[in-house]
Amino acid sequence: MLILQALFSKDFRDQFLKALATLVLTMLLAPLHGGAQEAKPLPVPDERYKADILLVVAHPDDEGAATPYLARALDEGKRVAVAFGTHGSSGANEASSEQAAALGAIREIEARRALATLGITNVWFLGGKDTASQDVLQSLANWGHGAALEQLVRLVRLTRPEVILTFLPGTFVGEDHGDHQATGVLATEAFDTAGDPSVFPEQLAGPMRRLEPFLENLRSWQPKKVFYFPDATNDGMFRGKGPEYSVKDIAKSARQPYWRLALESFRAHQTQAKSYLDSLRKLNEAELEKKAVADGWGDAQRFVLGKSLVGGSATGDVFEHIKPEAIPFVRPTISPKPEPPELYVELAGPWSFYDDFRRAHGLTHLWHPEPPEIALQAGTTLVIPLWLRNETRGPKEVTLIADLPAGWKLQSGAGKFVVAAKQVAAARVEIELPQLNDTAHEKQELREITVRAESNGQSIGAAKLRVELRKRALPQ
Ligand SMILES: [Zn+2]
Repeated sequence: MLILQALFSKDFRDQFLKALATLVLTMLLAPLHGGAQEAKPLPVPDERYKADILLVVAHPDDEGAATPYLARALDEGKRVAVAFGTHGSSGANEASSEQAAALGAIREIEARRALATLGITNVWFLGGKDTASQDVLQSLANWGHGAALEQLVRLVRLTRPEVILTFLPGTFVGEDHGDHQATGVLATEAFDTAGDPSVFPEQLAGPMRRLEPFLENLRSWQPKKVFYFPDATNDGMFRGKGPEYSVKDIAKSARQPYWRLALESFRAHQTQAKSYLDSLRKLNEAELEKKAVADGWGDAQRFVLGKSLVGGSATGDVFEHIKPEAIPFVRPTISPKPEPPELYVELAGPWSFYDDFRRAHGLTHLWHPEPPEIALQAGTTLVIPLWLRNETRGPKEVTLIADLPAGWKLQSGAGKFVVAAKQVAAARVEIELPQLNDTAHEKQELREITVRAESNGQSIGAAKLRVELRKRALPQ
């Protein structure tokens, strides 16, 4: 009782309140008296994921288009990360019975193994679906263009590459795979947006909560150069438009030529090339070299410079003028479209897309065939999509006339059309392609097709296309 009385005595209460007041005042005034809290620096990005090169390709095994160069870059101490557009779930399985999504699951592992042979383990998949056509727009639509770009921008911000390597965004005589083109388009878009803090800003927002479940806390990142490799039969047309590397030089670390390291890496692709790989296994080293050279493994590695934000020459080394410091975001220079005539016709579909794309990404210098070219399977139908534009104040009658090589048959789409005032109309000319007879050579000449447009007896333009007939080709 006595102790309690003492505790609640007036003296004790006064002393306690005084001590409490001093403590509160000290705490309140502390920041004003030079004891400012130290701001915590932002955590640094994870160095384990930093890349010098980000390779962006479509399918498992497409990395083979660059592995001889990647082997060289790795030998020089560069770090490499890879993004695949799809899992490669379509196509035949040469190794076993799995198909479709199951085959895709296998091919993801084959791609990871192929790259691990070279020492590359930072590998991601954008989740697109294989789309068998030569039309990049079909692939972008089937992949979910927005989601694929969002993921690729995320990967650029995570891996912070100095250089992006990818397929040439354009359409050429060759395999001309829409999925390959789609990776070139997406990688270019990511090159031009990953450094822009207003694009996918939620990826850059710092954490607002102790454990942030939504915001990603990445940093914007501007890659310095983008290089392309073409998916065209005749890649001689790209000579001198970027650096070229011999694949026969010997790697310092592995003491083997780069082509040999690339071939070793390719051995992981059993479901795509089992019979070919088995045939190689039977060869001795001298026979293997002879066969590999005949199969193209000895071809020089050739790139096309898309753009460099750090100067240097087109044919200079990939890393010429690249310094370790980050560079600020560079908004691409947009080239406006020349004012079109009031009444005119133009190619639509992927061709008009690529014209817009090159203008939007500062790539008008990027080489492309003019008139455009395509290789198609004999006996199939060629579709020429067109825009008919009438900017005049009245309706116009437009006549489409197709000039075709001998033996090629117009199916539909020519004749007279009325285009209303201030209207853009879509037209489609369909042409039946002839069969190739058995004596035809595998390689055909390019044949030119012209769709002329006239109004009131006057020419208002023409759309041209050059077509090569093949025994086999991807659908248009
Ligand atoms: Zn491919």
